[in-house]
Amino acid sequence: MDKLQIYYTVIYIFMFIFGVCVGSFLNVCIYRLPIGESLTKKNSHCMTCGEEIKRYDLIPIISWCLLRGKCRHCGAKISPRYTVVEFLNGVVWLGTALWFDIIEKPVYIIFTCLMFSAVIVVFFMDWDTQLINTWVVVFIGIMAIGQIALCRAYDQVSITSHIIGAFVVSVPLMIVTLVSHERAMGWGDVFLMIAAGLYLGTQGALVALAVALVTGSIGGLTQKHFSGSSKFAFGPYLSIGIFVAIFFGEKLGDWYMQFTGLNEMLS
Ligand SMILES: [Zn+2]
Repeated sequence: MDKLQIYYTVIYIFMFIFGVCVGSFLNVCIYRLPIGESLTKKNSHCMTCGEEIKRYDLIPIISWCLLRGKCRHCGAKISPRYTVVEFLNGVVWLGTALWFDIIEKPVYIIFTCLMFSAVIVVFFMDWDTQLINTWVVVFIGIMAIGQIALCRAYDQVSITSHIIGAFVVSVPLMIVTLVSHERAMGWGDVFLMIAAGLYLGTQGALVALAVALVTGSIGGLTQKHFSGSSKFAFGPYLSIGIFVAIFFGEKLGDWYMQFTGLNEMLS
């Protein structure tokens, strides 16, 4: 292995471990933001017996495996979802570093990783509560502005496209929200797509919406089949769309243009 390969390997390992640790904080956000609890004040405690979880039992993923998913104090089952969120965030951070060259685009990758983490919070929080926390959306907006301001050198999306991206999906969603009296769509979805659309640009925002509509129809029907209720959150599907748009947005957009013949019409 030459020196450069060693650098990359060390960075990749670091990205995964750091991502997992941030994932641990995301769990805190997912559970505490909806009930208005402080993110920093109280230590984590068992959901069943209320016993404070000891520092040495708070190592992400490892502690849960060592304790076989049970509280050390009362033996109650601890949801595997905490570990899933930690692992997911680690994989997403590692994946982002691998997909985009981390030594070439470090600033872009930092903004994108943090944005993805906020999107993971939206996914689980909206799934649980059917609400999207405003602060999480504001955070995505700040990441978007930071990325646009600091990554001009290699950003393939123009500033105009970023600005149009903020409206191209959010405005139609807003109309649906108003017309349906918030039954089909909520304001959380609208604000999410203003912030994420700004991040993604026009093409990315449209890809995110398309993916959300396809996965949302499948997910909504499946949910209806199993629970009988047609009420479901759209935010998780928009979250999936945002992920797909960052990684495959350009390719999917080009494919669509070719498929529909729009590229010839526009050229
Ligand atoms: Zn307990």
